[in-house]
Parts: sequence; C-alpha cells; structure tokens
Amino acid sequence: MSASRGSIRWLFLLLAVLGLWVAYRYWDLGQWLTLERLKASRDTLLGLYADQPVQTALTFFGIYVLAAALSFPGASILTLAGGAMFGWAMGLLLVSFASSVGALLAFWVSRYMLRDFIQQRFGKLLQPINEGLAKDGTFYLLTLRLVPVFPFWLINLLMGLTTLGARKFYVVSQIGMLVGTAVYVNAGTQLAAIDSAGDVLSPGLIASLALLGIFPVIAKFIISAFQKRKLYARWPRPARFDRNLVVIGAGAGGLVSAYIGAAVKAKVTLIEGHKMGGDCLNYGCVPSKALIRSAKAVKQLRKAEAYGLRGAHGTVDFAAVMQRVHQVIQDVEPHDSVERYTGLGVEVLQGHARITSPWTVEVALADGSKQTLTTRNIVIAAGASPFVPPIPGLKDAGFLTSDTVWGLKELPKRLVVLGGGPIGSELAQSFARLGSEVTQVEMAPRIMVREDPEVSDLVAASLRADGVSILTGHQAVRVDVADGEKRLIVKHGGAELAVPFDELLCAVGRSPRVTGYGLEELGIPLTPRKTIETNAYLQTLYPNIYAVGDVAGPFQFTHTAAHQAWYAAVNALFGRFKRFKADYSVIPWATFTDPEVARVGLSESEAREKGIPFEITKYGIDDLDRAIADGTAHGFVKVLTVPGKDKILGVTIVGEHAGDLLAEYVLAMKHGLGLNKILSTIHTYPTLSEANKYAAGEWKRAHAPQRVLAWLERFHAWERA
Ligand SMILES: Cc1cc2nc3c(=O)[nH]c(=O)nc-3n(C[C@H](O)[C@H](O)[C@H](O)COP(=O)(O)OP(=O)(O)OC[C@H]3O[C@@H](n4cnc5c(N)ncnc54)[C@H](O)[C@@H]3O)c2cc1C
Repeated sequence: MSASRGSIRWLFLLLAVLGLWVAYRYWDLGQWLTLERLKASRDTLLGLYADQPVQTALTFFGIYVLAAALSFPGASILTLAGGAMFGWAMGLLLVSFASSVGALLAFWVSRYMLRDFIQQRFGKLLQPINEGLAKDGTFYLLTLRLVPVFPFWLINLLMGLTTLGARKFYVVSQIGMLVGTAVYVNAGTQLAAIDSAGDVLSPGLIASLALLGIFPVIAKFIISAFQKRKLYARWPRPARFDRNLVVIGAGAGGLVSAYIGAAVKAKVTLIEGHKMGGDCLNYGCVPSKALIRSAKAVKQLRKAEAYGLRGAHGTVDFAAVMQRVHQVIQDVEPHDSVERYTGLGVEVLQGHARITSPWTVEVALADGSKQTLTTRNIVIAAGASPFVPPIPGLKDAGFLTSDTVWGLKELPKRLVVLGGGPIGSELAQSFARLGSEVTQVEMAPRIMVREDPEVSDLVAASLRADGVSILTGHQAVRVDVADGEKRLIVKHGGAELAVPFDELLCAVGRSPRVTGYGLEELGIPLTPRKTIETNAYLQTLYPNIYAVGDVAGPFQFTHTAAHQAWYAAVNALFGRFKRFKADYSVIPWATFTDPEVARVGLSESEAREKGIPFEITKYGIDDLDRAIADGTAHGFVKVLTVPGKDKILGVTIVGEHAGDLLAEYVLAMKHGLGLNKILSTIHTYPTLSEANKYAAGEWKRAHAPQRVLAWLERFHAWERA
C-alpha cells in the first residue's frame, strides 16, 4: 500500500520534472540565457527594476530558484544578470540566497527520486563515501563549492544521492559559493566589458579560487598534524625502538595480532598477565561448550528409549563433568601456549603490562622484576570481565560468574541464573540438564532479546522442557537470607517474589577492562559503552596505539576479536603505506543452546526497525529428512532477501548444528552470492546442510515465473494432443 503510494508520488515528480525540461527545450528558453541576449536586454531589465523594484527582484529570485532546482543550464548568465540589474550588493544578496535555495531543491529532487534506489543498489560501494561524508562532509562540500570548475548543478544532484544532511548541505553551499557568486555578480555590474561568460574567470582567478578551495583540506591536514604533534609532545620519544609491536593480552585478539606480526617478520612482544588463551579458552567458549556437550549427553541418555534403547541410564557425576571441562581446556591449551607462540617467533612475557607512554610499555614480571619495552606500535587486547550489578545483598550472599563457575565442585541443587542473554541461556540449560533446579531471571520481556521473538520463544520452550523456570519481565531487586536460606527478591508488575537458591550465577553482561594499565594516564577516551574509542582503522586517540576485541567492541566474540586483530596488526605495521578499515559488513554469531541459534546480517525485527524493505523465506527443519532420521526435526532457516531479488540481507537458523550450517550463508553474503547460487549447488544427501538449499528452493518457488509456467502448461497440453 505505502509502496504503491510512494511509486505514484515518485512518478508524479518525475513527470513534473520531465515536463518542465520539455517546456524548456520546446520554447527554447535557453536563448534568453545567453550573454548577447543579456547585454541587449540590459536597458529593458534596468527599466523594469526602476519601475517595479520589488516585483522585479522577486521574479528574478523565483526564476533563479526554479532554474537551479531543475538544473537548467545558464546559472552563470543569471548570476551576471543579477549584477547587471541590481548592482553588486543587492545582486549578491538575491543570487546568493536564490542559488542556495535552488541548490537545496535540486538536492531534494535527486534525493527523493533516486537516493534510495542508488543506495540500495550500490550501498556497499558507496559505504566509504557515506562514511567520509558523515565525518568530513563539510570539508568536501566546501572544497567543491569554492572551486567553481565543478558544475553547480552536478554537485547538487550528486550530494542528493549521499547521506549528507540537507541543513549541512544548505549552509555549506551558501558559504562556499559566496566568493564565486561575488566575482560573477561584480562582473555583471560591468557587463559591457565582458564578451563571454568564461571571461569572468581568468586563469589567475581560477587558480586563486582553486587554492581557496583546497584550503580547507590543507587546513585540516595542518590542524591534524599539529594536534598529533601536541598529543605526543608531552611524551619523550625513544631514540630507537626495540620492538615493532607490543601486544597486551593473550586472548583471541592479542594472540592473532602477535601471530600476524611475527608472520611478517616484525619484532613482536606479547604480554599476558594471567592465563594464555584469555577468556575464551579459560572461562568462556571452551569450558562452556565442553559443559554443554556433557549436558547434551545426559539429555540423549534420557531420550534413549525414543531411539529403541532399553535400560540405558546414567547418573551425573558432576565432579567428573567438571574434570572433563578442565581436561578439554588443557587439550586446547597448546594452541595458545607460550611454547607455540615462541616457536612462531613471538616473544611472550608473563606479567602485568602498563602503557607508560605512546611508545613504552612497562611489564611487572611474575618474578617481581620490571621491564620497560620501547615499541613503535601497541595493540591493546585486554578483553572484558563479568559485569556484576549493584544488587543490595548480592556481594554478602556470594555469587558465581563465568570466571568462577568452572571452580564448582558440586552441582548446585537450586541455581538462579541472572540474565537471559546467550551466556545465561547456555548455562541455565546445561545446569538444568545436569540436574540443578534452575530459575532464569531476565528483566526484558523475553530471553535472547537480540533475536526475533519467534527465536526467543523456541529457545524458551526448549529450556522450559529441560526444567528451567524462566522469569522474564522480572527485575532482581535484592538478595537476602531468611531462615538460613539465600533468596533473590525479584519484582514483577509491582509485586515481589522470593526465589530461594543455593548458588546464583551472574550473567548480565561483560565490562571491557579499561583501568589500571595506563589508559587514564594517557587520556585515551572511552565510548559511552565504556569500550576504548577507536576509529575505523582501530586506532585509539594515539594513532600508533590500537585496540581490538572485547575491550574495543562493538562485538564480544572470539571470531570478531581475531578479525579485528588482522586489521590492527596490518595497519600498525604497514599503515604508513596503506591502511585498511575494519570490515563489519558480514558478522556471524551463534548461541549454543539446544536448539542452537545462529545469525548473520539482519534479523526480521532489525530490518523493520531500520525501515529496510525485505522479503522473508522460511524453511521448517521439521521437514528435513536427515533431521527426521536424527530425531532433531525442529527449528527453521529464515532468510531475508531484497524484494524481488535473491540478494541475502540476513539469515537466522534455529536447530541442531545451526552454528555450523550458517557458514554457507556467511560465505554467500561475504562474496555476494544469492539464493540462486545456493540452490544450484549440490548438497550431500542426507545432511542437515540441505536445509540451506531447501530454503533457497522455497524462495525460488515463490518467485517462479507464473506466466511462463502457464505457457509451458499449454505447450505440454499441445504436445499431448
Ligand atoms: C561463558 C562465555 C562463553 C562464551 N562463548 C563464546 C562463544 O561461544 N563464541 C564466541 O565467539 N565468544 C564467546 N565468548 C566471548 C569470548 O570469550 C570473548 O569475546 C573473547 O574471549 C574476547 O577475546 P579478547 O582477546 O578480546 O579478550 P580476552 O580473551 O578476555 O583476553 C584478554 C586477555 O588480556 C589479559 N590482560 C588484560 N589486561 C592486561 C594487562 N594489563 N597486562 C597483561 N595482560 C592483560 C587478560 O588476562 C586476558 O587474558 C564467551 C564468553 C564467555 C564468558
């Protein structure tokens, strides 16, 4: 409905603009906009102005605005006419406002008619331009406006296609065009001396205006060089550097930064204050996935009869489960070990690092000694730690976090999990399967709130089936002890409810580690989300200090930390030749609940919120042969595409091994492959990966060419006759 109304408006506008252009050509209105005609009519125009000054000025203003808005040629002649008729001051006033208002209208016409189409079609290519304009739009536009060799109408139309704000466009245009307008209006006052519009601009004047045009750019360059100098001035610069790169933190972000540095033969030192491998190996991905595997085995054992197995049973030996978790950590440890990285050519120091200047890092080594390293570049990969909300009574009662839960020796009988995000949901389900009575408390109206509501519903139903009691819309207000029993008091709709527990696991988010290692002393600013502020190249305030991973955000995943690490290391070591902006265009993630939830690109809710047009194709995994054979026939593949096209905007998969299945769509999105390409790819039968192909098949069916099919039906009937 709204789309068709939009198309009608668009058509109407297009016809109006076309009509005016045809009228311009038909009546040859351009003949009035020549220098000869202007010179010949000068006395008549002056007479008109003398007789009816206000009407003449207003009519001139209106004609100028219309000509500029419709991008008619002849703006320079009209400007000369302004000078000739109204004199320098009045002419400048009229032309300056008329040209700016006309430019704004042309900008709007281009924006209204073409921008969405252009941005949708070439959005990826235009992204750097949009980002550049968002950051330095004023400088770019001012330069284009100051140098009158760039056609006035072209700038209006092109800027309309970008994301530049209309107000900024107007103000900068008016200021930027003022000098050129003044020159032309002044020439108009001496009309008799001019033989062609080109005479107005001598080569010398063009050169001066060009210099004026590039002045903002030069000024910006000088200011930034000056600021950089000032920024570094208070720190003594070492005469020479011992290292090319010092990396703080040996989690995913730090390890990959160091690896890349060493691979390209830079001298790299990696400093870790605690455990090699960081949070992912020691407290995060690895132990949680090991625990999830044990919990899944328990679940499968309980379902054994459904697979025709009688008498299969088992009891959970929690200590053994946790022992396995730690064994898994130990088995993965060599990948991130000091030995491995030393072998790769990285110097690894174990101790607490502190940045003492943009070029020096002091390390408090484990043996109590201190070492100061000089380096050209620093990568901060200090990670994040569990956020503990200031709930009265919580600290006194004691609580677990993802840092401490792996130290549990006994299975908690009653466990409260605070938080309905991925970590809370994964752990709530695992502990419930292992035998704890789990209550999951979430303030938001649903768990897994970043995903679509139907995803939350499926996961919540599965958690409930495993025995988790989910309290959404419940706010934790305090912890107290009654009759020797610890209780979490939650509030819901004005009423309070007490949830007794033996252990409480806090999983309400993770705070970047930003204190105690020099950021404050160097004045490195943080974002409102308390991550280290970086630019698109991952540089902090000091261009030779980079930040990656959880400490930099905006994501908190192992694979995004590793992804950023490549950019930081390459920019640090080779940035003086070529820098790369971190590419966040295709970021996948997964939550390893059962069923798993995996996503890349837009969800349906996000597309709606952002007003991005989309089509939805959904394939139910309950229909998939392999899932039926496995007894895991649940979940779906949901694909968002550009309307009428097979271009993928986002994919959500819920089901067994959703995290693995997603890889095909991540590859497709990254390399611009559409659903037709997925459909024409052979997928092994019977595998879960066929779900991806069947989703593409659903899309194809919905877009089958009905008219061609009707003709084919007739053709086959004719063949049978
Ligand atoms: C329970 C849980 C499950 C998770 N599951 C997943 C998952 O399935 N998939 C996924 O992608 N992500 C998962 N994550 C998130 C993932 O662990 C993090 O995104 C990832 O570890 C971030 O890596 P990083 O390099 O930024 O930081 P970290 O891994 O935290 O490493 C930072 C390191 O820096 C060290 N350090 C800090 N300051 C200093 C200093 N001054 N001197 C020396 N050393 C210092 C720290 O000791 C730490 O070892 C999970 C997290 C948790 C808690």
